[in-house]
Amino acid sequence: MEAKFLDSCIFCKIIRGDIPSFKLIETELLYSFLDINPLSYGHCLIIPKYHAEKLDDVPDEYLHNFLPVAKKLVKALGCSDYNILQNNGKVAHQIVPHLHFHVIPKPSASEQEG
Ligand code: 5GP
Ligand code: ZN
Repeated sequence: MEAKFLDSCIFCKIIRGDIPSFKLIETELLYSFLDINPLSYGHCLIIPKYHAEKLDDVPDEYLHNFLPVAKKLVKALGCSDYNILQNNGKVAHQIVPHLHFHVIPKPSASEQEG
């Protein structure tokens, strides 16, 4: 898919390297990086490498790319329990209007010790 960015979008700037980020996994289609304000250790975001605001703005055939990357990230973090969260629209608490999946590890007490 052709890369199309929105100059005013903070996540488009991150993809282009105009704003620094801690990159985790990058594919031809997706970019993932640590959340700047993590809800837990390893909280990261997965975004499409073109500007799309909501789930509705991404073709169905693109969507299957996100969850395998989420699984890889969780595996790399060594955390067995986690949340995948995805907000669409202001009322639903979407603050950054560039589609993103949150991957939020929920370490058990023993994983926290380790
Ligand atoms: P939302 O509420 O839109 O689903 O979540 C947006 C997320 O993006 C928040 O968890 C916030 O901490 C994260 N975020 C916002 N700006 C930046 C940034 O410049 N860099 C990174 N790494 N994360 C950001
Ligand atoms: Zn964008």
